[in-house]
Amino acid sequence: MGHGIERKLNTASKLAGYFLLVLLAAAMGCRPADSTREYRFQGSSMGTTFEVKVVASPFPEQQQEAVREAIQAQLQEVDGKMSTYRDASEISRLNRSRETTPQPLSRETFTVLAEALRISRVTGGAFDITVGPLVNAWGFGPAPDPSSLPTAAEIEQLKLRSGWSKIELNPRDSTVLKHEPALYLDLSAIAKGYAVDRLSEVLAGMSLTRHMVELGGEVRTSGRNAGGNPWRIAIEKPVSGGRAFQRILPLENLALATSGDYRNFRQAEDGHLSHTIDPRTGRPVRHELASVSVVAASCMRADGYATALMVLGEDEGYRLAVEQDLAALFLVRTREGSFRETETPAFRRLFGTKPTGAGPETTGESGS
Ligand code: ADP
Ligand code: MG
Repeated sequence: MGHGIERKLNTASKLAGYFLLVLLAAAMGCRPADSTREYRFQGSSMGTTFEVKVVASPFPEQQQEAVREAIQAQLQEVDGKMSTYRDASEISRLNRSRETTPQPLSRETFTVLAEALRISRVTGGAFDITVGPLVNAWGFGPAPDPSSLPTAAEIEQLKLRSGWSKIELNPRDSTVLKHEPALYLDLSAIAKGYAVDRLSEVLAGMSLTRHMVELGGEVRTSGRNAGGNPWRIAIEKPVSGGRAFQRILPLENLALATSGDYRNFRQAEDGHLSHTIDPRTGRPVRHELASVSVVAASCMRADGYATALMVLGEDEGYRLAVEQDLAALFLVRTREGSFRETETPAFRRLFGTKPTGAGPETTGESGS
């Protein structure tokens, strides 16, 4: 238990860095004409931190308290259902079960599994929530850190027990069937995005349609900021020390998710181990792609695709992103220790090309 908490905190501190920052329009010198203001709510959940900004006028303390409670309740609900770090969660129960008959699922978990399988199909299995046992074997899951890295034979063994096509969903009665009794699902690459979508819906349901929600670096925006402009969301430079911005994106009614190998990683004898597992090899991905950011209407979708593109790498991932018309930004490490940006056509349509002469940021110097 104590260990679990420690690991969670450890992960939290790594994730906390996922570096999207929202710059207050107020700080940029835009002054709203009336008493419209941005209210901020912060805390931690799902092994990471969150920040919610709401534009309101007026916003009585009582309503603020209701928002605070609604945010906590929503996050607890998602975490309580989908966390592999909680023994009592719905997903943990399903993971322990050796049943190969249909099991009932909550609507929420069903929605996430259905989207996960859809992304698996589209990405040829690069995204695969059944890699959980491999994630654990490489020391990135809720299980205690393994004392040694898995052997080739162990990896093959675990690969045999995984595979997204061994999950069968039935939307008619909201059930899941595991074709392999030992199938173990890990929703870490998509559940945060889902939680962000749900928080955004909760706020909209309270008539708060101008807001920004961020959880562990995954973001969703609705309407405009207090200055009347699109929200300004930063994508960080993918460096493990220090914080610097690579890009600032103006977002309005859009979500942004980033997957990277520069915060949550382990150091092994033969180098840096990413927490993203390539389901084809059963091993952490190894390439020069440092991060991928995806912009989409749904944060759950952006989150899942960001992970999938991270698996596929800069060439295959780029091709798939173009084919699927995804708005994605790839940051690739260069030999000189800086970053090269590759934008998909859909990304360029949304944001244009990065202005030239924008100072050091265009060179991608790591700044630390
Ligand atoms: P983060 O959690 O740092 O925001 P991601 O959204 O990319 O980053 O999720 C990474 C997590 O997803 C890993 O820690 C692991 O639990 C899980 N995972 C790793 N590889 C895959 C994969 N190929 N498909 C689905 N989930 C994965
Ligand atoms: Mg993800």
